[in-house]
Amino acid sequence: GPVLGIETSCDETGVALLRWQPEAPGEGLLAHTLYSQIKLHADYGGVVPELASRDHVRKLLPLVRETLAEAGLTPQDLGGVAYTAGPGLAGALLVGASAARAMAWALGVPAIGVHHMEGHLLAPLLEADPPEPPFVALLVSGGHSMLVEVAGIGHYRILGDTLDDAAGEAFDKTAKLMGLPYPGGPALAALAGQGQPGRFRFSRPMTDRPGLDFSFSGLKTQVLLAWQGSDQSEQTRADIALAFEEAIVDTLVIKCRRALEATGAARLVIAGGVGANRRLRAELAAAGDKDGFRTYFPRLQFCTDNGAMIALAGAIRLAHGQHQDATVQVFPRWDLESLPPATP
Ligand code: ATP
Ligand code: MG
Ligand code: FE
Repeated sequence: GPVLGIETSCDETGVALLRWQPEAPGEGLLAHTLYSQIKLHADYGGVVPELASRDHVRKLLPLVRETLAEAGLTPQDLGGVAYTAGPGLAGALLVGASAARAMAWALGVPAIGVHHMEGHLLAPLLEADPPEPPFVALLVSGGHSMLVEVAGIGHYRILGDTLDDAAGEAFDKTAKLMGLPYPGGPALAALAGQGQPGRFRFSRPMTDRPGLDFSFSGLKTQVLLAWQGSDQSEQTRADIALAFEEAIVDTLVIKCRRALEATGAARLVIAGGVGANRRLRAELAAAGDKDGFRTYFPRLQFCTDNGAMIALAGAIRLAHGQHQDATVQVFPRWDLESLPPATP
């Protein structure tokens, strides 16, 4: 039967139902729903963990019912339950893990805790013509910026990581310091669309030396200085936003090219919230045309947190006979490289 996927690692409650079909995983997606807590946290300028947990408690079961109804299924039809077990906010993770465990136990079906970043990484498999390993994955989200060599599902080697801020975090913090409302990333990107090129230029951090690690916190300081020393007009804000976006995107493109060259891979998967950035998508696709690698993106709504990617990652592992004992356990910190393989 179909797998129920539950995502509650941060400020989005995501639920999905997916029937596992290896050749076209996306066609097995039966229904998905999402509730974003953005409004709840906006006044605080960031996610408040205790409020997040309580809101997951309020929203999760209604969303599960809604998703089942959308797919025309009942709980008895389920073949398994997958939930995000980490990394993320401990209290928020526990809400999803407890609900998932309770349902699986009551229905007598297996349950599996999914690594949130594996969920992001596999999200492009939900699209038509899914990528096959080996490939390189650029994972750029609110809490992570990583380049990962993917030899197979569960065979992950981290090639590069961020030394400080993640790419999404850099977008959010930069937006905030120029006075944009929370969450700033998408707002900053939209503003960049109105910017005039060439008025400002920021550095491409750590591209002048070898290596695949990232560092984005210095960019924030460059933006702060530029913004404070400017007329702070609407146009200037857009111009700075554009220069910031160009700096981040250029940096990511340079590192992706390097990672592809170093591994000899011919496919690049982009995932995580920043993967929704239009400039990043366009520039990576253009680099691929030039260098001869193919790019794979999730649809925009599956770049940011969602239940579909958790249902997918869980379904793959359940199909390989993996599941865990009926204990509610979460891993707020969890190393992606420590996952067991799910392909030979
Ligand atoms: P993690 O997955 O590391 O735990 P998260 O789940 O909070 O973090 P995601 O939901 O994957 O992160 O992505 C959210 C991030 O993506 C935010 O930092 C947001 O600003 C950023 N983001 C979303 N859309 C865009 C965009 N169009 N341009 C740039 N950044 C964006
Ligand atoms: Mg979020
Ligand atoms: Fe995420």
